[in-house]
Amino acid sequence: MFRRSIYKSPADLRAMVAAGRATAGALAEARRRVVPGATGLELDAAAERAIVAAGGRSNFKLVPGYRHTLCVSVNDDIVHGIPGDRPFRAGDLVSVDGGADVGGWNGDSAFSLVIPDPARPEIVAAREELSRVTEAALWHGIATLARASHLNEVGAAIEEYVTGEGDYGILTDYVGHGIGRQMHEEPPVFNYRVDRKGPAVKPGLVVAIEPMLVAGAVDTFVRDDDWTVTTADGADAAHWEHSVAVHAGGIWVLTAEDGGAAGLAPFGIVPAPIA
Ligand code: MG
Ligand code: MG
Repeated sequence: MFRRSIYKSPADLRAMVAAGRATAGALAEARRRVVPGATGLELDAAAERAIVAAGGRSNFKLVPGYRHTLCVSVNDDIVHGIPGDRPFRAGDLVSVDGGADVGGWNGDSAFSLVIPDPARPEIVAAREELSRVTEAALWHGIATLARASHLNEVGAAIEEYVTGEGDYGILTDYVGHGIGRQMHEEPPVFNYRVDRKGPAVKPGLVVAIEPMLVAGAVDTFVRDDDWTVTTADGADAAHWEHSVAVHAGGIWVLTAEDGGAAGLAPFGIVPAPIA
């Protein structure tokens, strides 16, 4: 039986650009709305409008049993939170994950954001630091991908970076993934060191890198809603994700509006648009 290659053709990579852009636009709309009093459902509706306006459809809605465009996970919820009508409060750590399908190709991206709360500066500072380290871990992973010979160098770099930043846990119950015709494809993209090299990094590899960090233990459980993944000890969690393409000209972060230029600049890497 022929097994489809994990490596996309140059034409496939060009086709994925629109899905990445639509995903970036939808998450930008959601991000603007992470303010006190707003709800996950409002973010969800705004993201949905942006994806449709970009000519796509929500790929989260294509997941059997899931009815929303985004996942919105607050504080100790890590991923897969269902957008609800509970208003966000000052000090909340809000993680938003979403993706677009455009022309049968997928994008997938996530960010975390802390709502300011002058009354609780210590909690806000701790949550902002958790999110900052998670985002930086993502960019360390992407920068490593740009120079790696094998995919699992990414996880090793993420682990090394996170370990040096303090006492954070890297989730192991959930990992990143290949992305293309399906939102979730082979290969797995680990956020930690594993004892095998993984596939070769070469043109046509497209992966969603998505570190999930916790301020406590890495044990998780799924809430009674059958979706929301939560820390067992109630500690805070953050989640950042981008879909990234390796192509003949270099690397391009499909779900960043600048292709990853700002995030990769500290590493001396200039992303190359997919020609
Ligand atoms: Mg995602
Ligand atoms: Mg993903």
